[in-house]
Amino acid sequence: MTTTIDHITKQLDRLYNAQAPETGIIKNFIKAETEANTQLRSYANNVKQKHLDNYVYFRGLTEFSNKCSKNCYYCGIRAGNKNVDRYDVTDEDILDAVRFAHEQNYGSVVLQAGERSDKHFVERVDKLLRKIKQITNDEIGITISLGEQNYETFKRWFESGAHRYLLRIESSNKILYYKIHPKNEKHSYEHRIQALYDLKDIGYQTGTGVMIGLPFQTRKDLVEDLLFMRRFDIDMVGMGPYIEHQDTPLYKYRNQLLPQQDRFEMTLNMISLLRIIMPDINIASATALQALDPMGREKALKAGANVIMPNVTPGMYRNSYKLYENKPCTDEEAADCVSCLEMRIGLTGNQVGYGKWGDSRHYHNRRGR
Ligand code: SAM
Ligand code: SF4
Repeated sequence: MTTTIDHITKQLDRLYNAQAPETGIIKNFIKAETEANTQLRSYANNVKQKHLDNYVYFRGLTEFSNKCSKNCYYCGIRAGNKNVDRYDVTDEDILDAVRFAHEQNYGSVVLQAGERSDKHFVERVDKLLRKIKQITNDEIGITISLGEQNYETFKRWFESGAHRYLLRIESSNKILYYKIHPKNEKHSYEHRIQALYDLKDIGYQTGTGVMIGLPFQTRKDLVEDLLFMRRFDIDMVGMGPYIEHQDTPLYKYRNQLLPQQDRFEMTLNMISLLRIIMPDINIASATALQALDPMGREKALKAGANVIMPNVTPGMYRNSYKLYENKPCTDEEAADCVSCLEMRIGLTGNQVGYGKWGDSRHYHNRRGR
């Protein structure tokens, strides 16, 4: 047993110290067994403590509209799904949710929605950003996750106060990308990559991520995803398990998927591996983890994640932002979610970074290089 443990530790040391991480080692750890999982996650947690600290940062998440102009094959709120009640949270309700997050001393908010690029939407977001800065005396950090936009829009929103942007590549493998998206101008792989470059160029803390356990996805794809993130030198990541939704085209492949438990474990391993090869980035503990395990987000925090996104969207809208089945917390008001979170985070050996923006240390390090 000691030999096995020593061997695993040596492999992890090699990954941590490598200029170019070895794909074979990463691949073995993505779907490791119990003993290796335990060691991998605890190693990643130590890397996090060494390069960052034991703070976990809150982002109050507002999913402010499920209206979307795109048709990603995996997503429950895709434009083609006619079984969705479409909503827009009013500006006043969004600002109330922000006020709530501010009063709770969350430090940051995330505004997320379906993708739209029409003039009305672009201006609305712009005004909201300015208003958020104003009502919080510039005390709250703002991440946005509003899909692909042109350079001008990204820049405009940056100048209005957003400073972090999350745009998942979903899969870095172009062939797989087109198996999970229609192949047309609205869903172009090249455009998505370009959007990531634009965000970085403008000065955003730039985040991306992938879904884990997609149909057709191999472990080699996941290795390449991690290497893509390292090559791109991302500042933050949000990656989570793929969860099927019955009103989507990918649902027909549900029998080919890995069991949900495997997708869950592989996601934790992906988080740990990324922490080891990119020690100072921000890693979010995705909500989809909680859909598969009630303690999923806390487990991710023990495996190297350092950001958590409590949902502050007003309760009446939550049932309609169903990206996948069993999305958690849809029947709770924001205050109910907060009450036990601090205690749960304490149990992971971390503490909440109340009142701090919790920016990506990697962003500041890379800009100081
Ligand atoms: N519309 C924006 C975009 O696509 O970037 C932001 C909102 S979108 C709902 C946020 C993320 O939800 C996507 O990047 C995708 O990875 C994730 N998502 C969508 N459907 C999912 C599913 N069935 N299982 C897991 N994650 C899903
Ligand atoms: Fe729209 Fe985003 Fe869902 Fe794609 S993932 S359909 S862009 S909300």
